[in-house]
Amino acid sequence: MIFITMGGIFGVVSRGDCVQDLFYGTDYHSHLGTYRGGLACLNSAGFNRSIHDITNSQFRSKFEDDIQKMHGHKGVGVISDTDDQPLLIGSRLGTFAIVTVARINNINQLAEDLFKQGAHFSEMNGDNINPTEMIAKLVCQGETFAAGIKNAQDKVDGLCQILLLTKDGIYAARDKYGRIPLIIGEKSGTHAVTVETCAFLNLGIETTRDLGPGEIVFISEDGVEQLQPPNDKLQICAFMWVYYGYPASNYEGINVEVVRNRCGACLARKEKIPLDLVTGIPDSGTGHGIGYANEAKVPYARPFVKYTPTWPRSFMPQDQVQRNLVARMKLMPIKEFIEDKRMLFCEDSIVRGTQLRDTIQQLYKLGAKEVHMRPACPPLVYGCKFLNFSRSKSDLDLATRQAIKELGGDGTGLKEFADPDSEKYKIMIESIRKQLHLTTLKYQRLDDLVEAIGLPKEKLCTYCWDGVE
Ligand code: SF4
Repeated sequence: MIFITMGGIFGVVSRGDCVQDLFYGTDYHSHLGTYRGGLACLNSAGFNRSIHDITNSQFRSKFEDDIQKMHGHKGVGVISDTDDQPLLIGSRLGTFAIVTVARINNINQLAEDLFKQGAHFSEMNGDNINPTEMIAKLVCQGETFAAGIKNAQDKVDGLCQILLLTKDGIYAARDKYGRIPLIIGEKSGTHAVTVETCAFLNLGIETTRDLGPGEIVFISEDGVEQLQPPNDKLQICAFMWVYYGYPASNYEGINVEVVRNRCGACLARKEKIPLDLVTGIPDSGTGHGIGYANEAKVPYARPFVKYTPTWPRSFMPQDQVQRNLVARMKLMPIKEFIEDKRMLFCEDSIVRGTQLRDTIQQLYKLGAKEVHMRPACPPLVYGCKFLNFSRSKSDLDLATRQAIKELGGDGTGLKEFADPDSEKYKIMIESIRKQLHLTTLKYQRLDDLVEAIGLPKEKLCTYCWDGVE
């Protein structure tokens, strides 16, 4: 139960008015970002765009008034954690609105190259270049939109996922390694594109297919046309299934909650310990906990519940102290399920562990007899360099890195600490267990996680666990 943010995009083209679908489809990405929400739609009068700060209130409440005034047949929406979007750009290719999910590791180098050509940036956030504006500039270098999008995909080191709205339709481009999904769907008279398929469910949109890595399509009232076929370098983020994807979503046809249940079941098959109850830290530990409980035939119970009426999941202040406070205030203990109990918690993962330590202390104060912890993925040893994660400001904040440092490690030789059969791994886990005051601590093995997801290892990004690119 830790915060993670990334961003999500949604697009729709319809023979009728698309604004309701655009509004709800975008809103269903609210778990992926906390900074800005934005919508752009197009009608005969031109583009209509709206951007709001969502750091302190939900997307839906901010846009309810806007959508009364918006109408159109095509639109794109975004939940962003990095920049103001959508951007409206006038170019030789035509006017367009653009939304992205992006991380540009080489943004300074790309900016230098563009400055030399006389370019400028007008959407600065302090000294930082808006990544969406950078991608728009790279798109505008192409002779066509498709060529420009390919140019951006080729030049960006990191993550580059784009929806681009023009008067004729929407260009949709998945990241060249497919680190995150981009999925198309349809219902009568409507074609849509999304990161999360849970956005389709209540809109009556059926998933058609996942775009492949690097694939570019053009979506219009007439259907979906492929402009660039996918490559075979899929490296989809395995963490989507473990933690930050939504349980009702499917990526590559594989449902998130099903994978979480399989992760929990796999952990349970490896041991037999006497327990009174199994639980998951809400929300993302729940699916793993249910899988464990069912397999171990131990009751699933909720020693903690979340106060959701005023603390929805999507409310995540940017400031870390505030975040910790919100996390603490949101969870409420139920003493009857804690006192004298031997309990096992499934957790999506342990990042820094500070908040978890407080939760565990609270359990002992309320009379817990034993607290066992089973993270659903292996220890996070390497910081992600492909997506925008705000779970930990630096790799050195990771619980594993802190343990390695305390054991006298200097940050080199991480491979050994990541190997579950090595002595160093066992010492590191024991150090984390002691710090968290757990009765026992056992992590998922990577091969078991890969099996629970059900895709071949080479199609998954598992860098944060094994350092393999
Ligand atoms: S490094 Fe980890 S979090 Fe980042 S894309 Fe790869 S699996 Fe996902």
